[in-house]
Amino acid sequence: RCTLTGLANRTLLIDRLGHAIDMANRTQGRLAVLHVDLDRFKRVNESLGHDIGDALLIQTGERLSDGVRRCDTVGRLGGDEFLVILERVAGSDEAAMVAGRLLGALRRLTNVDGHRVHITASVGIALYPTDGTDEHALMRMADAAMQAAKADGGDGFVFYTREMTERAMARLRLEASLRAATERRDFELAYQPKIDAATGALTGFEALLRWRLDGMPVSPMEFIPVAEDTGLILDIGAWVLEEACRTASRWALDHGPLPIAVNVSARQLADSSFADLVESTLRRNGTAPELLEIEITETVIMKNVLHHLPTLNRLRGLGVRIAIDDFGTGYSSLAYLRQLPVDVLKIDRSFVTDLPHAPDIASTVIALAQRLKLSTVAEGVETLEQRRWLAEAGCDRLQGYLISRPVSADAAEAMVMA
Ligand code: C2E
Ligand code: CA
Ligand code: CA
Ligand code: CA
Repeated sequence: RCTLTGLANRTLLIDRLGHAIDMANRTQGRLAVLHVDLDRFKRVNESLGHDIGDALLIQTGERLSDGVRRCDTVGRLGGDEFLVILERVAGSDEAAMVAGRLLGALRRLTNVDGHRVHITASVGIALYPTDGTDEHALMRMADAAMQAAKADGGDGFVFYTREMTERAMARLRLEASLRAATERRDFELAYQPKIDAATGALTGFEALLRWRLDGMPVSPMEFIPVAEDTGLILDIGAWVLEEACRTASRWALDHGPLPIAVNVSARQLADSSFADLVESTLRRNGTAPELLEIEITETVIMKNVLHHLPTLNRLRGLGVRIAIDDFGTGYSSLAYLRQLPVDVLKIDRSFVTDLPHAPDIASTVIALAQRLKLSTVAEGVETLEQRRWLAEAGCDRLQGYLISRPVSADAAEAMVMA
């Protein structure tokens, strides 16, 4: 058996896979490449408060080696990732059986250096010659399949499919286009009005990012995650802030204060200079801080509440209003909520959709906001019944297709001047 644990052996493993392919090619045999990546490795370590990392990785390597035959190869690719090369497999069934056995062996690894652990992994499988015939392609395919296993929630194995490559290529193309668009600042903001629930008067807007690729609009749900993963959101977000502040100042001259809310992602909020950026953007555009509202989703705030607190406090100190977006979908603890420098709770659209027949969550959020002296905005208001219910329940502001879809800056300006 060829066990290459203890080190990051990527090059050695690629070599070894190359040889195995030569051999299989000569004997018309089949191979399976398994990419094994531990789930939650960092968290297992942190939760113990001890670094058992090395011991855990060594024992993982041993378990994997014990689970395969002498002719097979087990090696560490680096980090908590391993490669298993199964030589002379009959086909996918046998590869699946081995993958299942390896996952079982890891689950039974419950004690490392006297610490109780729970180890699971995500396994991606690529087959020679079915999926690919060169070692680099097979490694990439096993990796892509592993990512799919991870996306499925981990603790399982997934076989490589063609669609994974197609999806990965589409994703790379999207990334490249988004990078180019970011350099050219080739975006627009759409503005969706918010109105006073009681009077119907215009109270402000939410700025929503719009991007066209080859003339076709791409949904923010599709490109914002890519912008976050690549870090492009930092540049894009700075542009959004600039544009929103400039616009809010201009409209304020003609109309009086109409705050514009911008969405801020986790990556932006985690950036240590975010509050500085907001401050300098306000100053550069001569924008009164009350004209800017920052929307942050509940999940993002609550996931790392202590880490974000200083930035939130600084933003609040500048006089910027802070809204918790998609409120009700996460798990806010009341204790935290009381200490957070927030001004607005935005009732998530999913609860507004339920109105008026299932009003429990909307009622609870409104009551909670009133107790904490926060204001409420309902998003996704689409029907008159919803609007009436919300106004009666004491929700402060409304936003949704019933009032208006997000519109161009010019159309929004017309609403401002009306
Ligand atoms: P969000 O912040 O929850 O924004 C509300 C979304 O609901 C918007 O989708 C809006 O067009 C849509 N919407 C508004 N009213 C209604 C309604 O009555 N019915 C329905 N069905 N939908 C309604 P959009 O513009 O596609 O944006 C999707 C998400 O993308 C936003 O969700 C936000 O999380 C993100 N996003 C948009 N612009 C930005 C941005 O500039 N920066 C960041 N970080 N995220 C952004
Ligand atoms: Ca991992
Ligand atoms: Ca929002
Ligand atoms: Ca929302």
